[in-house]
Amino acid sequence: MSAAANEAAESSHAYAVYEAKGEFKKHVFKLHKLGDDELELRVTHSGICHSDIHTIDGDWGNKFDIPIVPGHEIVGQITKLGPNVAKLRPDFKIGTRVGVGPQALACQSCTQCKVDRQQYCTGTRAMTYGEQLPDGYTTRGGYASFHRVDCRFAVLVPEKLDPANAAPLLCAGITVYAPLKKLNVGPGMKVAIIGIGGLGHCAVQFANALGADVTAISRSAAKEDDAKKLGAHHFLLSTDQDAVKAAAGTFDVILNTVSANIDFNAMLGLVAPQGTFATVGAPPDPMSIQTFAVIFRGITIMGSLIGSPAQMEEMLKLCAEKDIVCQTEVLPFDKVNEGIQKVRDNNVRFRVVMEMPADATYAE
Ligand code: NAP
Ligand code: ZN
Repeated sequence: MSAAANEAAESSHAYAVYEAKGEFKKHVFKLHKLGDDELELRVTHSGICHSDIHTIDGDWGNKFDIPIVPGHEIVGQITKLGPNVAKLRPDFKIGTRVGVGPQALACQSCTQCKVDRQQYCTGTRAMTYGEQLPDGYTTRGGYASFHRVDCRFAVLVPEKLDPANAAPLLCAGITVYAPLKKLNVGPGMKVAIIGIGGLGHCAVQFANALGADVTAISRSAAKEDDAKKLGAHHFLLSTDQDAVKAAAGTFDVILNTVSANIDFNAMLGLVAPQGTFATVGAPPDPMSIQTFAVIFRGITIMGSLIGSPAQMEEMLKLCAEKDIVCQTEVLPFDKVNEGIQKVRDNNVRFRVVMEMPADATYAE
C-alpha cells in the first residue's frame, strides 16, 4: 500500500508489541469500517507518553489484546469523513489538521458527558488504544500511519502550532492543564510541579502562564536551568533534605507528575494548610500516605484523568496565544524502540515525538 498525504487508506502501517516489555515490530493492520461519526486521519506525528510504557510493560496489571499499537498524542491531517461529521464538526474538512488524545469514545449522555467531562464518562467509554469499541474492534493508537476515531474526540490544532511540538499537548499538556484550571491556579498562588518530564515540563509552562509563582521539584539537578527557562521561578532538588525542610508547608497546590513511586509523605509536608496535593502520575504501586499528614493540616488529595475535548481546544488556543511550546526530540518513526528507551532512561528533554514517513508506508 502506498498513500499520499490526503489519500484515504484501507490499512495502516504501525509498530506494535507482541508481548509484555517486548520490542516494537512492524505491524500492518486493516482499518475498521469508518463509522458514521468517525473521521480518518493520516498521522504525521505521534508522541511517546510514559503511559505507553506502563502499558507495554504491564505495570498496571492490565491485560491487553496483542499485538498492541500504543500512541495517544496524535497529530495528522483528515483523509476521510463519515456522513455525520459535517453536522457534528462542520469545521472539519479533508486536509484539516487535527489532534487525537487518549480517549476514543464516550456515551455523550451521562451526567459527566453532559457537563463536558467526557473523560469521566460512566457509560460506554473507550480509550485510544487497547480497548474495545461497541462493534468489538480493539482500538489501536497513533504509532501508525492512519487512525480512525469518533470526530468528537478529534480536536482542531491551530495552524500557528508546529505539529511535532503540538503532539505532546494532546496527552501530556491536557493532563496537567485540566487540574491546574480546576484548582483555579493563578496570581498569588504558590504552585509546585513534581517531576520535570513530558507532563511536568508542560505543567511548569501552564502554571507560569496562569500567573502562579512556580517551583519545579525534581530529583535531577541538571534540569534546573531548563526548568527555569520553561517558566519556573524556583527549583527544589527533591534529594536535598535541607531544602525540602525549608520549603515545608509553603505550596497552595502541588501537582505530582512522576511515573514512579515517590516519598508521598515528604511531599505532603510541603503543602500549605488547606492546600491541595494533586496527582496525575500513575506509578504501578499504591500510594502510601500517613493519614495524620493529611488530617492535621486539612490537605485535599486529588486525582485527575486527562481532559475533555473542549478543554483540549481551549488549551491549544492558549498555547497558540501565549507561545507555550513543548520541547521535543523528534525521531523518525522507525526509531520507535530508541525513543521508548530514551523515555525509560529519563533521557529526553522533554518529549520524544515520532515523525511518520512521507508516503505513510514502511521503508523496505
Ligand atoms: P516522563 O516523561 O517519563 O516523566 C516522568 C518524570 O518523573 C521524569 O522526568 C522524572 O522527573 C520523574 N521520575 C521518573 N522516575 C522517577 C523516580 N524513580 N523517582 C522520582 N522521580 C522520577 O513521564 P510522563 O509521560 O510525563 O508521565 C508521567 C506519569 O503520568 C506517568 O505515570 C504516566 O502514566 C502518567 N500519566 C497520567 C495521565 C492521567 O490522565 N492522569 C495522563 C498521562 C500520563 P525528574 O527527573 O524531574 O525527577
Ligand atoms: Zn499519555
